[in-house]
Amino acid sequence: MKLFTVGPVMMYPETMNIAGKQLPYFRTEEFSRIVLTIEQKIKEVVNAKTDSKVALLTASGTGAMESVIMNSFDETDRLLIINGGSFGNRFCELAQIHHIPYDAIDIPFGEELTEEKLFAIDGSQYTAFVVNHHETSTGQLYDIKMIQRYCQKYQLFLIVDAISSFLADSISMDEDGISCLILSSQKALALNPGLSIVVVNSLFYERKIKNRPPKGMYLDLNLHFKNMERGQTPNTPAVGVILELADRLEKLDYQKEMEEIKKRANYFRERASKLEVILPNYPLSNALTPIILPKQNATAIFEILKRQGLMVTPSGGDLKDKVLRIGHLGNLTLQDYDQLLMALEKIMKKENPGA
Ligand SMILES: *Cc1c(COP(=O)(O)O)cnc(C)c1O
Repeated sequence: MKLFTVGPVMMYPETMNIAGKQLPYFRTEEFSRIVLTIEQKIKEVVNAKTDSKVALLTASGTGAMESVIMNSFDETDRLLIINGGSFGNRFCELAQIHHIPYDAIDIPFGEELTEEKLFAIDGSQYTAFVVNHHETSTGQLYDIKMIQRYCQKYQLFLIVDAISSFLADSISMDEDGISCLILSSQKALALNPGLSIVVVNSLFYERKIKNRPPKGMYLDLNLHFKNMERGQTPNTPAVGVILELADRLEKLDYQKEMEEIKKRANYFRERASKLEVILPNYPLSNALTPIILPKQNATAIFEILKRQGLMVTPSGGDLKDKVLRIGHLGNLTLQDYDQLLMALEKIMKKENPGA
């Protein structure tokens, strides 16, 4: 089975090799050293200042999103959340659950978050801006520099979920004015699911997290930051995924990885434009290409491809029959796209696919 998904994605042999081994015990100096090296390397790849704080949470990305929302804000805050799909909506739901006032900027499918639309909103009543850099449900990539200008204008903290854009699209905590960045193991890092990473700069930590009483135990960021000082976690972490991450970061060439993903995205997009599909005209992440099926037969095509061992990413909700998403993350080659494009072309030539 070839995965053209966004997570889990095709893993590298080195990662699978590590995943197949006996785990070590983790309350040791040796393991602490591994974790501290990860902390340092993560800061380097996301261009965070050295006094930033890093937490390794044993949770999927949603756990990290929740930990940031619940550990940083309360009723006295007001968040401005970009809601352009299911992941933006998840931030709105988290704010509701944790009783944090917010307003959403809704971006209906097909529309773009433009400078005009954003700057028309008076931001003076907000404390923080919350965005999924790449809204994975639609493929839209938001302009982080534009968002940075908006946040500077109104002095807002900037919270960025870069879970699906990290390594696909360039992001820099320091240069993009990001207060808090969220990453996860199963997207472009191409590791097993279960580990998420929260990076916060020192200002955000001091002002919003440090002195706040805990609202829970497992996702308590202060507890994680405290333990991280000695390269440990408060509870048993996903030891195996941490070892996979250590290996991945040791070998990672950040620029080269981004170029590879971009090359695959461009290769697929050029050829897909010759099929009977429509590519959206809002800005796209390199992580995936959404293809709009004019005949509303996305589900049928998904099933046929799956039977052929080609797993693309289906959409949910209203987009289920309309949009398929073709992932570009992980261990994929241009030949893999040739195979997928050939299969797609064949299916679409038939009058009635799926019948
Ligand atoms: C995948 C993803 C997440 C995390 O989803 P989980 O299923 O909890 O891992 C969060 N945000 C974005 C933008 C994502 O693509």
